[in-house]
Amino acid sequence: GATLGILGGGQLGRMLSVAASRLGFRSHIFEPGADAPAAQVADAVTTASYEDVQALTRFAEAVDVVTYEFENVPTSALEVLQVLRPIRPGREALRVSQDRLTEKDFLSGLGLRTAPYAPVDSLEDLHRALGAIGAPAILKTRRFGYDGKGQVRIMAPEEAVAAFDALQGAPAILEGFVDFSHEVSVIAARGQDGSVACYDPGENVHRDGILRTTTVPARLTASQRQDAVLLAGRILTELDYVGVMGVELFCAPGGLVVNEIAPRVHNSGHWTQNGCTIDQFEQHIRAVAGWPLGDGSRYADVQMENLIGADMDRVPELAREADTALHLYGKAEVKAGRKMGHVNRIIRGT
Ligand code: ATP
Ligand code: MG
Ligand code: MG
Repeated sequence: GATLGILGGGQLGRMLSVAASRLGFRSHIFEPGADAPAAQVADAVTTASYEDVQALTRFAEAVDVVTYEFENVPTSALEVLQVLRPIRPGREALRVSQDRLTEKDFLSGLGLRTAPYAPVDSLEDLHRALGAIGAPAILKTRRFGYDGKGQVRIMAPEEAVAAFDALQGAPAILEGFVDFSHEVSVIAARGQDGSVACYDPGENVHRDGILRTTTVPARLTASQRQDAVLLAGRILTELDYVGVMGVELFCAPGGLVVNEIAPRVHNSGHWTQNGCTIDQFEQHIRAVAGWPLGDGSRYADVQMENLIGADMDRVPELAREADTALHLYGKAEVKAGRKMGHVNRIIRGT
């Protein structure tokens, strides 16, 4: 059978490996760190840096297609890999989503609503941007942010200097604060034949910048639900995308506002493991392997809860809960703020 190469050995890579295995594929993980969650379940692992051209070359030659579990794959590594094997999703999706400024320009270029934004490379830029956008606002690093890291809220213009200093000179973008009632996301997939399939949008609750729960169905009107799915389809088609993508949205009084996109399987799509016949991980493997997309329709209401840091202490009691599926990532060390696993609870009508 074919071998799928996965860049990144975290929990997303692990769950992709498991899904690949279930479809009869082999998986080969490329991961710089030791003891990675995905390395425990994959058929093969290359532990090397993304600067190691020889290791990248051997990895590519050992696989049939390359995919990834995170969007910050260095461009230099992609250059090495792309001449040897297809990379799916393709380079354009990575280029657009690696940088919050490129991403916002792309989304607004499609006519989609985003928060008002401006690039910030100097304190002067920040003062000017605050003048145009107003407070409250959020200053975010353009690159490498996740789980709310690399972000500072600016509640009043007087906080500008402290906020600018907090990002230590990293290229940034100022975003106006979107007055949303709640957050939702669409997990969308596009196959090599150009067909698009979206999962039912989930409603996301964050705490301290980290996703806590995703609940399906989300609170959306029928027309909002249709808007969400249509805009996700437009994004994927515009990028000639192959694979699964997460599209994060704010529900605002004037309509849906796109927060960000992630060119990969997404934490807010984990509920599909126990709510759908074909979950997001299998859907991604299917797309990347050139299979037809699977049926992603939802057969249950589900709430996904992330197990973060000390939440792991609750595992013995969670294991006794009815209608609750545990998914643990096998991470050796528990740390505050680290995603250790999640549970999917089937919600039964009363
Ligand atoms: P992720 O882990 O999802 O990749 P991230 O670090 O890339 O997160 P964002 O998604 O940009 O961060 O922001 C994290 C959360 O902060 C959002 O889900 C939302 O709750 C809040 N937030 C971000 N930008 C805005 C905004 N412009 N207006 C209001 N709230 C915002
Ligand atoms: Mg993000
Ligand atoms: Mg986000």
